[in-house]
Amino acid sequence: MKEATKYIHAGAHPDPSTGAIMTPIYQTSTFVQEAPGSNKGFEYARSQNPTRFALEEALAIIENGKYGLAFGSGVAATDGVIKLLQPGDEVIAGSDMYGGTYRLFSKVFEKFGIKFIYVDTTNPANIKAAVTRNTKLIWLETPTNPLMNITDIAAVAVIAKEAKALLCVDNTFASPYLQKPLDLGADIVMHSVTKYLGGHSDVIQGALVMNDKELRDQLYFIQKSCGAVPGPMDCFLVLRGIKTLHVRMQRHCENGAAIAKWLRNHPKVNKVYWPGFEDHPNHAIAKKQMKDFGGMISFELKDDSVENAKRVLSSTKIFSLAESLGGVESLINHPASMTHASIPREERIKNGLTDSLIRLSVGIEDAEDLIADLQQAIG
Ligand SMILES: *Cc1c(COP(=O)(O)O)cnc(C)c1O
Repeated sequence: MKEATKYIHAGAHPDPSTGAIMTPIYQTSTFVQEAPGSNKGFEYARSQNPTRFALEEALAIIENGKYGLAFGSGVAATDGVIKLLQPGDEVIAGSDMYGGTYRLFSKVFEKFGIKFIYVDTTNPANIKAAVTRNTKLIWLETPTNPLMNITDIAAVAVIAKEAKALLCVDNTFASPYLQKPLDLGADIVMHSVTKYLGGHSDVIQGALVMNDKELRDQLYFIQKSCGAVPGPMDCFLVLRGIKTLHVRMQRHCENGAAIAKWLRNHPKVNKVYWPGFEDHPNHAIAKKQMKDFGGMISFELKDDSVENAKRVLSSTKIFSLAESLGGVESLINHPASMTHASIPREERIKNGLTDSLIRLSVGIEDAEDLIADLQQAIG
């Protein structure tokens, strides 16, 4: 089946009781059994829910995976992966990644004796050098939030195999439309479904997709034992979101390219982070492993004072000042004080995330309107 057809039909089966073409919202906590031990495959909705199952099937199909698992949020999905580990195990992760992932690793899991080693993953040799016999997981985010660094997933998959460690890729920024980590050798794909998959800024959800049955069973056990499952209404909204993912992503990419190029030519803009530029340090890998370059852009102004950044952040009229990304509407964000405030300042600065960096999630509005809005805000 071709890509576009998959987004429309993945996980969609007419409802067995009525023929409803859309999977109903099974808003129920439990399922009546005919006799003890005799049920229709559904016992209790933390373990099984038909709306969630439809979504999990869709997630697997669109990531070219065999199994999908949905969670109550992106960080709950990440939490599920780390719970595969034991005290003494080591995780190699990127030094530039989503602040909430860093917070979960450093503030929640470190105290349980799991060790996290942060390296610049854009050079896979750094990962290889950090491998020890205790390395059990390599955690990659590509493109990274917010600096748009790209890591060669296939190269890291080879290192993970040699180390007998799992490779999990946070595919939130790319979405399955732009990048399919399982095809490149990853063991698990993680999503903040809240972003492009949901696509309409109306749901918090996470997901994991994998091919290995044993790994799926372990993660399903964690999903039901720890209980961070999404509600059926949220699963319905995401099933609806997925149907237009490819169409939305095409426009996100078109608008993203137009705005990145416009920003780069703006006399008051200093640096633009967008992997579509030929002189982006990882452009060749982005081109190899991604279908297009997405709608996420970060930039610095020539006057790089925090006051000037704050002035621009408060002056846009179409771009809304808000955390999150991947919705149809454009958002503007200040990573240092918003999405990445949980990373210590020295760490942030060391990785190139300055106090004046501005991040855009380019929506699917008219590109001319978006450019005009940025023009009046930058001045
Ligand atoms: C938002 C985000 C997360 C966390 O997901 P939630 O749904 O907010 O819990 C993880 N990784 C990346 C790259 C994100 O942007």
